[in-house]
Amino acid sequence: MRIAICPGSFDPVTKGHLNIIERSAKLFDVVIALVLVNPNKQPVFTAPERTEFLRRACADIPNVKVDSYHGLLADYARSVGACTIIKGLRAVTDFEYEFQQALINKKLNGELETMFVITDSNYMYLSSSMVRQVAQFGGDVTDFLPECICKDIVARLPRSKTTEGESVQ
Ligand code: ADP
Repeated sequence: MRIAICPGSFDPVTKGHLNIIERSAKLFDVVIALVLVNPNKQPVFTAPERTEFLRRACADIPNVKVDSYHGLLADYARSVGACTIIKGLRAVTDFEYEFQQALINKKLNGELETMFVITDSNYMYLSSSMVRQVAQFGGDVTDFLPECICKDIVARLPRSKTTEGESVQ
């Protein structure tokens, strides 16, 4: 059985993430969408919240499982028998970081390959941080989030305390 992992922070999961997961699910027997806990990041949503949103977003894709992990991705892959990590690439700016990660993961787990899936052109500009920023100032983020969880995410994204359009001078 060919098992692949789509790892990320998913803070929160966007349509860009979901597109990569759906396309990966067509290539592998099982895909694990994995919320990685990174102690160096300060996420807006807790790991259980991010995992729950991801689980709901992926509920209709039969061969996708959702999990979360605090530790090395290379170790998690070994423990579940996964052969491949799948990463989405939006632009050249993603590449340098992802290239380094792929080499480190290969060094830590020689059985593990990293595959890159090029973003759908509709989602080139889309990132979780962009969604958080737009929502912070009251912008409409409904086009960027999976429909089934959109309302719940929007309701829980923090808003800036400054009144909309207020001058700060
Ligand atoms: P973000 O960069 O949005 O904070 P993550 O750290 O959760 O997202 O990224 C997890 C993976 O999803 C990475 O491989 C990232 O490149 C990919 N990804 C995120 N957004 C998109 C998108 N719009 N299109 C393609 N891949 C994406």
